[in-house]
Amino acid sequence: MQFIDLHKQYDLIEDSLRKRLDKILGEKRFIGGEEVDELENMLADYVGVKHVLACASGTDALIIPLRAYELKKDDAVFVPSFTFFASGESVSLAGGTPVFVDVDESTFNIDSDSLMQKIKEVKREGKLKPRGIIAVDLFGLPADYDEIKKIADQEGLFIIEDAAQGFGGSNKGRKAGSFGNMAGTSFFPAKPLGCYGDGGAIFTDDDDLYAVMKSVHVHGQGVDKYDNVRIGLNSRLDTIQAAVLLEKMSLFDRELELRNEAADYYEKRLSDYVKTPKIPEGYYSSWAQYTIQVKDEQTRQRIIDTLGAEGIPAMIYYPIPMHQSTAYKGDNLDTVLPVSEKLSKVVMSIPMHPYLSREEQDSICDSVIKEC
Ligand SMILES: *Cc1c(COP(=O)(O)O)cnc(C)c1O
Repeated sequence: MQFIDLHKQYDLIEDSLRKRLDKILGEKRFIGGEEVDELENMLADYVGVKHVLACASGTDALIIPLRAYELKKDDAVFVPSFTFFASGESVSLAGGTPVFVDVDESTFNIDSDSLMQKIKEVKREGKLKPRGIIAVDLFGLPADYDEIKKIADQEGLFIIEDAAQGFGGSNKGRKAGSFGNMAGTSFFPAKPLGCYGDGGAIFTDDDDLYAVMKSVHVHGQGVDKYDNVRIGLNSRLDTIQAAVLLEKMSLFDRELELRNEAADYYEKRLSDYVKTPKIPEGYYSSWAQYTIQVKDEQTRQRIIDTLGAEGIPAMIYYPIPMHQSTAYKGDNLDTVLPVSEKLSKVVMSIPMHPYLSREEQDSICDSVIKEC
């Protein structure tokens, strides 16, 4: 069994995708071109934002917005600790300092009380200056941007939405990618909308930030292409990857429905045995991962071993909260984030993709229930 099955999806798009790729190979246009423009326009319509900038990865889709804010070393950007490493790493790469915040136990997303407390701590200590917040739509569920925005407005902070896993999700009809001043997503193959390599995109309604980011993503180029006005990156989305994404967009909404049906079925079968993920009223998840919480670390290992023996892959997202990672723990010796620390010991993710059959789900659930 596959953790994320890309084969069945490929069968559905193979013919039309091969036509698109043949055209690109025939014309030998590998950078830019109409596919990238078409994709950016399609994504802007889909998410409901003014500007989309395709780039080379989800990590770059965070670094480029952060670079637009010209962070200094003593600028604090608040990031949940329980997330993929790139959420915080991007802050360091853009020249600022990540300050790790705890998450909510039932949504896995940034906890506004912990956020407020960390902002107060930073202001009290006076070493760093609060600048912004990166909120993550973890496992596909958009964060609570109503609460986050109240805090950001009150404290004068920017918000960047890390929608690497959230693309396709929504809250009260508003789509992931449209929250915050800017948002970044990833097209890594295993994400809800993935290409066949690395890729990413940035979303914003802000004309000025968009203009700066357009420059940052190609070496800080100015009006004159060879008079560079700032230090930038080389971060473009390849034409071939744009073609893959255009084809996959034709399946995407149906795939979201199928993911949600699979999640409903897991909920029905597992909720009496493990803590299943709950989607708050008004929200829609893109189900990048289906992550359950079990009793303790030993139980988790037992379940993973049993699943493994049946040929069923399971993953731990994430086994180490960022403030305890080797890279960051030295700067965070006094940081205690109880929920992130607890979650890293009891979470596990089971196969989730649009083409999961009910028979496969039954065999996954049987093994999980047996070891609970
Ligand atoms: C995958 C991911 C990223 C980074 O995306 P890449 O395309 O792999 O660079 C950033 N944040 C989160 C939450 C992710 O899951």
